[in-house]
Amino acid sequence: MHSFSSTPALGAATVDLAAIAHNLRTIADGAGAGVLAVVKADGYGHGAVPVARTLVDAGANGLGVAHIREALALREAGIPGPITAWLHTRDTDFAVAIAAGLDIAVSSARQLAAVVDAAGRHGETATVTVKVDTGMNRSGVAADEWESFVDDLARARAAGAVALRGVMTHLACGDEPANPANDHQAQALRSAVADLRAVGAVPEIVHAANSPAALTRPDLAFDAVRPGVALYGLNPVPQHSDADLIPAMTLATTVSLVKRVPAGGGISYGHTYIAPADTTVAVIPVGYADGVPRALSGRLRVRINGRDFPGVGRICMDQFVVDLGPDEGGGVAEGDAVEVFGTGADGGPTAREWADLTGTIDYEIVTGIGSRIERRYVGGPVAGDDTVGGPTAGGAGGGRS
Ligand SMILES: *Cc1c(COP(=O)(O)O)cnc(C)c1O
Repeated sequence: MHSFSSTPALGAATVDLAAIAHNLRTIADGAGAGVLAVVKADGYGHGAVPVARTLVDAGANGLGVAHIREALALREAGIPGPITAWLHTRDTDFAVAIAAGLDIAVSSARQLAAVVDAAGRHGETATVTVKVDTGMNRSGVAADEWESFVDDLARARAAGAVALRGVMTHLACGDEPANPANDHQAQALRSAVADLRAVGAVPEIVHAANSPAALTRPDLAFDAVRPGVALYGLNPVPQHSDADLIPAMTLATTVSLVKRVPAGGGISYGHTYIAPADTTVAVIPVGYADGVPRALSGRLRVRINGRDFPGVGRICMDQFVVDLGPDEGGGVAEGDAVEVFGTGADGGPTAREWADLTGTIDYEIVTGIGSRIERRYVGGPVAGDDTVGGPTAGGAGGGRS
C-alpha cells in the first residue's frame, strides 16, 4: 500500500537516544542530584515522545514542559511519572491537566485560584509546584504577591484542593557561574521554601538549575537539576565546563542534483555569488523552511563523502547550493549522503557552528528544525528502524511501536 508516510522525506534528523541517556547520567553525576528533564518544544526539536521515554527509562525523576498541551501529548503517548508544566494563560484548561495527573506549576495567586477552582469543580486534588520569581522578573510568583500567595496555598492545601509537589525558580544568569545573581536567587528560593514550610507546605522536590547551572554550580542543585539543552548534548557553557556531552542530532540529506556552472554564472536568488571559474555544484534539498538559517547564506559548509564543501549563494526555502570545485568534489554524485550538521566528532559542521556564525545559540538551531524533516531514532531499545514523521507528519507519534 502506498501512503504519504511511506514516502521518504528529503531530509532527516537522526536522533541518538543512547547519547541522550548518556547525557542524562553525565549531568546527574556531575550535579549529584536528581534530574527533572526538560522536553518542551518537541524535545528541543528532537521529538518529545521518544526522547521522554528514553529519559524516563534512563532514570529521570520527572519531565518538564512549558505548556499543558505538551504535557498532555506525553501522557496520551503513555509516558508515565511526574510531568511539570509551567507556562499558562488566562484560558488554560487546568481541569484536563488535573485529570491527566500533571504537576501544574503556578506563577501567581490568580493561577492558583484557577487551579483550585478546577479541582473543586471535579472534586479532585490538584498537584502543584510553586514557581517563585527570585529575581528573573519573568514567570513565577512576584515578590509583592508572595505573602498572600503563601496564605492562599495554605488554605488550598487545608481544603484538599491542592497537594504541593515542588518549588522551583529559574536563574537569569545560569550561564555565568560566578554571577552573584545566582547566589541571590538561590537564597531567595531557600527563603521561599522556608515560608511554605512554616505553613506546613513541605515540597517533595526543589529545583532551580538549568543546563548551564547544572554543569557548573552543583552547590545550587537542590533536590534536582532541570536541564534541557545539555540533555541533547549541547553545552551552553563550553568555556566553563568540559562535561562529556554527546550531541544527539545529526541533520542529513542527499545530493539532489549535480551540474556544471560556467565561469561567470550567478548562483541562486540575486546572483549574490558568481562562479569565478568553471565549476560543478550540488543542490542540497533542505532550506530555511527546514531550519537552515538564511543568514548562513555563503557561510555554511556541508560534509559529503568525508569532505567539506562551501555553500554558495542564497539559502532558499527548500534548497541551497554547494560548490564542488574543479574536481567535481572527487566524484560527488546525485544521491550521495550529505551531513548538514552533526556531532562534530569528525570535525564536521555542528549546530554550535551555525549558531556562532549567525549570532544566536544552538538552542535556536535545533528547535528550528522544521516539520518536513523526518526524525529517525537510533540507540534506543529497537534502534535502527523506529522512524516517525516530523511533528506535523507524525503527530505526537510514538516512534517505537
Ligand atoms: C527551558 C527551561 C529550562 C531548561 O533550560 P536549558 O537552558 O535548556 O537547560 C529549565 N527551566 C525552565 C523554567 C525553562 O523554561
